[in-house]
Amino acid sequence: MLSRSIEDYIKAIYALEIEVQKATTKQIAQRLGIKMASVTGMIKHLASESYVTHTPYYGVHLTDRGKAVALDLIRRHRLIELFLARTLGLPWDEVHNDAEVLEHVVSDRLVERIYEFLGFPQFDPHGSPIPGRDGSIAPQRGIRLDEMTAGQHGTIVEVSDRDPEFLRYLTGLKLNIGTEVLVRELAPFNGPITLAVGSRTIAIGHEAGARIRVGVDEPTSSKRKRKHA
Ligand SMILES: [Zn+2]
Repeated sequence: MLSRSIEDYIKAIYALEIEVQKATTKQIAQRLGIKMASVTGMIKHLASESYVTHTPYYGVHLTDRGKAVALDLIRRHRLIELFLARTLGLPWDEVHNDAEVLEHVVSDRLVERIYEFLGFPQFDPHGSPIPGRDGSIAPQRGIRLDEMTAGQHGTIVEVSDRDPEFLRYLTGLKLNIGTEVLVRELAPFNGPITLAVGSRTIAIGHEAGARIRVGVDEPTSSKRKRKHA
């Protein structure tokens, strides 16, 4: 069994590779709140154990072995979050921190029992895909809200789970998984994004928009075409 610290490094590198394509020592340090010097030492260790490769100036990449560890942790994390939300009725802003701890300690057997108990779910309470037992993972759905264009309409499919404060902000705005949104306007220079949500008009910042993913509806004409095809 790996130490919690090693597992957290591997998970952080996995997340950075997805979010910003490459994980640098600096970014890893920032994400984990650890000094750069300690990160450098740990990266060397992870490389010696074949979890990562490290190329100066190109950053740190997970090997297949490292990826398997990351996906196993993510599977545990997301199943535990869903379990806490469904069985204890915890709101979506209260499941992440406990899952961060529990993902390292629950047995494989318990994780698989939770998976069965929940009816083989595909998504966690924040809309993120739950990796399969075999380490497969469905692609992220939708596009970032801040990358949509005015006039586009869609449904919120995923939100970032890392900051409970952000999730409470969304709850306050009544923006949830499944909420339909229409982008009215994106102000230039990273200004506010104006949304129509039902009969309401909401303005949110770009930073918030970057943490929300929306499954964009196809224009009506192409939908019609498909029906006839
Ligand atoms: Zn989480």
